[in-house]
Amino acid sequence: MPVLKKGMSQAASDAFAAAGINPARIGQTIGNAPASAGVHKQDGVDAFGNSYTCALDLSVVHPSPLTDGAVKQVLEALAGHGFAAFYRCPGSDGWPAGQARHIHAVYAGEKMKPALQAQIKDWLLGRNGLVGHAEYRFWQPEEAHRQVVRQLFEAHYGALAV
Ligand SMILES: [Zn+2]
Repeated sequence: MPVLKKGMSQAASDAFAAAGINPARIGQTIGNAPASAGVHKQDGVDAFGNSYTCALDLSVVHPSPLTDGAVKQVLEALAGHGFAAFYRCPGSDGWPAGQARHIHAVYAGEKMKPALQAQIKDWLLGRNGLVGHAEYRFWQPEEAHRQVVRQLFEAHYGALAV
């Protein structure tokens, strides 16, 4: 089965499909958007020959607008399938005013650049994954889902001290 969008690994694509979220929401995969500060640059090539980044941006307005409650449901569904995801809402939780509102997700089951490793570690600690590493207030995953992400990540990077 081809990946849902070029720039995703097969594993991330399959996990996203299993999470039941409309793939039409997927925006940036591999990319160089200035606001992304390089975290969407390619992470590698997976076992199926897909060039990929573990970072994935999702629209909260296309193809339909999501309420805050619906965003939380998307974050939870993603977590249950191995994505550490954050709602980036301008002016909230460290995301600057004037930047684009979206969901930024990181798939934990493939090798990734250090900046994304740091975001997953932050997410596991309940922090926002930004330079200030502040507490993430918008939402926190169910513990079972946090463990899904942790186990995928630790399979590549070893047991975390946290
Ligand atoms: Zn992003």
